[in-house]
Amino acid sequence: MANAIKEFNATTNDSRNKLRTIARAWGIPKSTLQRRLAGKIAGHCHQSGRKPVMSKEAEDELADMIRMLAARGFPLGAAEVRQLAGQFSILNNLNLFKKTVAGYYWFVGFMERHRDLRLKKPEVLSKSLKPKRKTSTAKSSASAGSICPVCRVKEHSIKDVLPWIQCHVCETWYHEPCGEKCGLLDDDNFTCRRCVVTVS
Ligand SMILES: [Zn+2]
Ligand SMILES: [Zn+2]
Repeated sequence: MANAIKEFNATTNDSRNKLRTIARAWGIPKSTLQRRLAGKIAGHCHQSGRKPVMSKEAEDELADMIRMLAARGFPLGAAEVRQLAGQFSILNNLNLFKKTVAGYYWFVGFMERHRDLRLKKPEVLSKSLKPKRKTSTAKSSASAGSICPVCRVKEHSIKDVLPWIQCHVCETWYHEPCGEKCGLLDDDNFTCRRCVVTVS
């Protein structure tokens, strides 16, 4: 399932197959997906004569799907979101984008409009590193002095009873539970709240 979106883009040019794959990935019936996409994804033109953009309803739908996938433990990366948006456009003959993936500026705008979305960092960044954790026994003077950005408790202080984890992007240390609440913790990496919203 983790790579359903990729598979969906790579394996076939037949849009029906793609739709089926992605419906399976989302765990919803294909007909439902088809109906929802058909109904909600309508391109419209700005009066200024600019290219059509995805309707707000369609964007919300897309954002919902990204949230749903993330909630199931399959956060999408930036490239996958762009692929997904591109597929929406193609499946519905909207011609929103010049290529088969949504443009970078569309993506940046989309993320701006849906600031709560959490995305996975690109694979290249996340492959090599396991989340770095400070264990209670490993608290050494070398790493002393971190202040958790979420709860502001200082390491080794009386209130400091939680394990620590380091963001693989900015290398800031957080309490594991504090970081997990606001950031993204998967098998390979912890990405803090600040870095999660950073467009890659
Ligand atoms: Zn904390
Ligand atoms: Zn970070």
